[in-house]
Amino acid sequence: MKRPPRRPDCGGETGAARSTSASPGRPEYCGDAVGPGVHPESRIGALPPRKLSELIDQAREYSFDFLRWKREFVLKKHYQVHTKTICPRDGQRLQYRKQLGRAQRRAFWCAACQRLYE
Ligand SMILES: [Zn+2]
Repeated sequence: MKRPPRRPDCGGETGAARSTSASPGRPEYCGDAVGPGVHPESRIGALPPRKLSELIDQAREYSFDFLRWKREFVLKKHYQVHTKTICPRDGQRLQYRKQLGRAQRRAFWCAACQRLYE
């Protein structure tokens, strides 16, 4: 199998991690069915157990979507907030951090619909 070429603009999909539900045809970016999204500066230990489980489930689903989209060269097309300026859910201006967390990756999020747990 041929591996897709590595492009620097495809790294750091942190912002897309909110768009993780596998159900098609439904807005997914901020976790509609599961309550508010999670702010990327939240402390893992501050998440309620149910929210943590949701996050883990969605991260797992997204990793499969990510690989499939990456192989099909359609990853960028599925970005919900990564590299965007406006929240697709509520039209609010997105927040942006050039380097965030241990991995120092780019992060995009909506302060209106992604809750900060601290
Ligand atoms: Zn929003």
